[in-house]
Amino acid sequence: MKKIQAVRGMHDILPQQTPLWQFLEDTVRDVFSRYAYQEIRMPILEQTALFKRSIGEVTDIVEKEMYTFEDRNGDSLTLRPEGTAGCVRAGMENGLLHNQVQRLWYQGPMFRHERPQKGRYRQFQQIGLETYGMAGPDIDLEVILISARLWRQLGIQGLELQLNTLGTAEERNNYRQELIGYLAAHRDQLDEDGLRRMDSNPLRVLDSKNPDMQALIESAPAMMDHLSEESRQHFRQITDGLDAAGIDYVINTRLVRGLDYYSRTVFEWVTNQLGAQGTVCAGGRYDGLVEQLGGRATPAMGFAMGVERLVALLETLEIQPAGSSVDAYLVLMGEAASTEGMLLAERLRDALPALKLQTNCGAGSFKAQFKKADRSGARVALVLGDDEIANGIIGIKWLREEREQAALEQAELVSFLERL
Ligand code: ATP
Ligand code: MG
Repeated sequence: MKKIQAVRGMHDILPQQTPLWQFLEDTVRDVFSRYAYQEIRMPILEQTALFKRSIGEVTDIVEKEMYTFEDRNGDSLTLRPEGTAGCVRAGMENGLLHNQVQRLWYQGPMFRHERPQKGRYRQFQQIGLETYGMAGPDIDLEVILISARLWRQLGIQGLELQLNTLGTAEERNNYRQELIGYLAAHRDQLDEDGLRRMDSNPLRVLDSKNPDMQALIESAPAMMDHLSEESRQHFRQITDGLDAAGIDYVINTRLVRGLDYYSRTVFEWVTNQLGAQGTVCAGGRYDGLVEQLGGRATPAMGFAMGVERLVALLETLEIQPAGSSVDAYLVLMGEAASTEGMLLAERLRDALPALKLQTNCGAGSFKAQFKKADRSGARVALVLGDDEIANGIIGIKWLREEREQAALEQAELVSFLERL
């Protein structure tokens, strides 16, 4: 029989990896809540039209990456390729956006039919943050400061903050015309995607990953030179704020982001430690999206992080979460100890909420149990057998250090483990 395997580009996250994932998720949750952001959870499936209308028809995602299918009623549904569209939809549908200020975050799997490679998968995890109802540069700054604090709290150093501004829709339109002119004059250097997008979505051409087009992209006219004084001011307030906060950045005038709905501020956090897939966090302002989806004009700003890439970075930097392993392993010899031991373990967990205690199940010889104790990563083995039960004591055996084995009164066990 042919073996059934996981779908290409979709991965299991194994038990030895989850401590790092949890460390990341816990840190994110902590940082977001310190800025008073609230979690929102959206469905993984949405109507296909939501993504076509928000992300834009002429984008990599909508053109070739979506998992789209008809359900049993013949409705076209899509596994979400990103979280912003669903968040806006949820906000509109539940009356969270109109005349209100919202600071939200979400987390979950996203799906894109891309060519799987390191840092690029078909199911991947994003953690995103979205704000609504705030038009000023202050919230843009807050959002970037949150991301910067996250790296600090995770212990990640060496990320580069790249910043750009795309102006307002009107400014971008003027720029667009000039860019089309430039691309048309260099038609012979465009690849197939470039030719197709030149007229329909010329900014997207700047986002091309094709190395043969980088020279052309480098010399293209820059949005920065087409800004109104107001947009310039908006951008300057962000860079002034970053300067004052001591956060380094570089201005990358080619940064346009892969999605269509951005306006004004866009940014990415990039590492050079993960090879080609170096962007770990990307975001920006998207003031036009709510209206584009049929709601009332609402300013919006947010970002999304690629969790696989961040976990890979934590691994590369050898950042280890503290306290993820077992503290103590309870070895149980004989039938009486098997029940007594379970109850003892329960009492210990009642008394010591931080204790990570693993109890031996399935009996086994002394040797076999100690092997399991060793493999658990525990620092100490607690031994309970008929003798210990009879005398109200417990054996202590150190698993990781040269220390005399000992016996303790069971009554002293809690304070012993506390000191551990
Ligand atoms: P890229 O240019 O790498 O394709 P993108 O612009 O398509 O990225 P976004 O839609 O902005 O990416 O998603 C935000 C973040 O999610 C990215 O910066 C990245 O960290 C992560 N990400 C995007 N696509 C994938 C994927 N296929 N596999 C793993 N992580 C991804
Ligand atoms: Mg992409």
